Amino acid sequence: MTVQSMTTTKTGDVEGTLSQVYALAGAGADIVRITCNEVEAAQGLAEIVPRSPVPIIADIHYQYRLALAAMEAGVQGLRLNPGNIRKEEQIKTVAREAKDRGLPIRVGVNAGSLDKDLLAKYGSPVPEALVESALIEIRYLEDVEFNDIKISVKHSNVPSMIESYRLLADTVDYPLHLGVTEAGPPPAGLVKSVAGIATLLSEGIGDTIRFSLTADPVEEAKAGRQLLESLGLRERKGLDLIACPSCGRAEVDVIEVATSAQKALEEANLPIQVAVMGCVVNGPGEAREADIGIAAGRGRGHLFIKGQVVRVVPEAEMVDALLDEARKLVDEGVESRLAHAESKAEEIAAAERRQLIEIQGDANKAKERRAAVAEVAGRD
Ligand code: SF4
Repeated sequence: MTVQSMTTTKTGDVEGTLSQVYALAGAGADIVRITCNEVEAAQGLAEIVPRSPVPIIADIHYQYRLALAAMEAGVQGLRLNPGNIRKEEQIKTVAREAKDRGLPIRVGVNAGSLDKDLLAKYGSPVPEALVESALIEIRYLEDVEFNDIKISVKHSNVPSMIESYRLLADTVDYPLHLGVTEAGPPPAGLVKSVAGIATLLSEGIGDTIRFSLTADPVEEAKAGRQLLESLGLRERKGLDLIACPSCGRAEVDVIEVATSAQKALEEANLPIQVAVMGCVVNGPGEAREADIGIAAGRGRGHLFIKGQVVRVVPEAEMVDALLDEARKLVDEGVESRLAHAESKAEEIAAAERRQLIEIQGDANKAKERRAAVAEVAGRD
């Protein structure tokens, strides 16, 4: 399962484009698509491809000759839009060349640029129209015995996108590239993309994904990677921060602590799950599964590893202590760090927890529930 993103620079700007490619790869993109919309772009690709850390796909619209030029520039694959390269012979010429070079082609149908004839036939870009567009293009490719095909049928309307891919998956066996097109800026763009992509992935549909956000493309790559990580479809390479939503029990501003912890941990690029919890009463227990976490006590933070408190630090040092311990945890492992736990940390933490429960009350009503159970158990 791979994550794609796309550069937003002018492809002729070789250094600018390459620096974005590196940023995207660093954020989790396995493949980067770059537009090849003019001769200068194809020339730029000739310099970009050999220096890129990830495979480059040339995005081709309207001019089939630019597909030929991109292949000459050394790209690792093409995306053709069947809505605007419609001449059968031109498509076949590109396919023959791709076949000779051993390169894949993605048939990238988009509801916003659907073939005019199909739009006239169906009246609007309904799922059947998108799938038919893909099938026509696939037939041209198969006619010249080209089979290294991937397909996408992107729609900006999430239910239509889901329906299009379901229909396509029922019809063909080729790998599918998933995306909600023109999803817009976050957070709505993220929500739409996750709704469409995750629904299909949970049905076993999809091989590559892209979030099409109106944002820095690094955000797209990050979101794609995080989605796959959160679904367990890819090993975690980056940080997974879990944080409680905060409530009246919180002893710190959880949003502020979580935000600065996220920033510091992301910069450190640590592949671990970290919890930031607003109170020590419920925090360490609720976040027991996290590799490491911090919960706020009365002016102090309880730093815990796998639910066991290893240090108690002043509130002002919570984020620094978390970062320091997270680094050591990644370097040395859980056993070693638990062995280095401060001797009285658990004891101090337990005393503070009791104190807070007395002040705030016990949200889980453990005492009352135990008493009620004991009473029932002791009845004749
Ligand atoms: S960890 Fe504490 S502050 Fe956070 S939601 Fe749970 S009870 Fe509230």
